[in-house]
Amino acid sequence: MADFTTVCKALEGHGFTVKAFSTKEEAAAYLNQQIDGVSVGLGGSVTLDAMGLFESLGQHNTVYWHWKQDAASARASAANADVYLSSVNGLAETGELINIDGTGNRVASMLYGHKKVYFVVGRNKLAPTYDEALWRARNIAAPKNAQRLMQKTPCAIQGDRCYDCKSPDRICRGLAVLWEPMMGIETEVVLVDEDLGY
Ligand code: SF4
Repeated sequence: MADFTTVCKALEGHGFTVKAFSTKEEAAAYLNQQIDGVSVGLGGSVTLDAMGLFESLGQHNTVYWHWKQDAASARASAANADVYLSSVNGLAETGELINIDGTGNRVASMLYGHKKVYFVVGRNKLAPTYDEALWRARNIAAPKNAQRLMQKTPCAIQGDRCYDCKSPDRICRGLAVLWEPMMGIETEVVLVDEDLGY
C-alpha cells in the first residue's frame, strides 16, 4: 500500500476524518455502508464514475448527478443534498484539499450546503506540498479535464501544461482550498491506493 501515513496525520490534524483502502471496490463498499437512505449529490468526477457510485448509491439513496441526469436540475438538487461526494484535483501531504472549477457547483459544495462531504482521492492526486498540489491541479488535472471536455484551449490542444489561457472555453475559473472542514460540515477523506481520475 502507498504510504499514506504523512497525509493521514496531516488531515487528521486539520480535523478531517480519514479512511484508507487498498482498492476502489473496498472504498465503494465502505461508502455504500456509510451512506444509506439519504439524498446525495455528486460533483463532476472521473473517480466517482470509475467507482460506479452513482449506480450503487442510487440503489438505496436518492442520488443527483449532472453527468447522468438533466444537468441543470441535477446540479440544483445536488446543491441541497444531505451528503455530497467529490474528488480533488490535488491533495497536499500537508493536508490541503484543492479543487479548480468552471461552473462552480463542485467548489460551492466543498464549502457549504451539506451535512457531510466525502472526498474520494486516488493516490495519484497526492503531492508533497501545497505548492506542488496546486501545480498538479493546474498543470495535470485541469488540462486533462479540458481534453475530456473537448475544449478549445491551449492545454487541451498541447496536452502538456496550463497556459493560463484567456480562452472563452477556459475551464479554470475558481479555486477552492480546504484547510479544515467548514464549520458545521462533517468532512471525510477516503484515500484509495489506486490511480483514479486525473
Ligand atoms: S487556465 Fe486555460 S490553459 Fe490553463 S488549464 Fe485551465 S483551461 Fe487549460
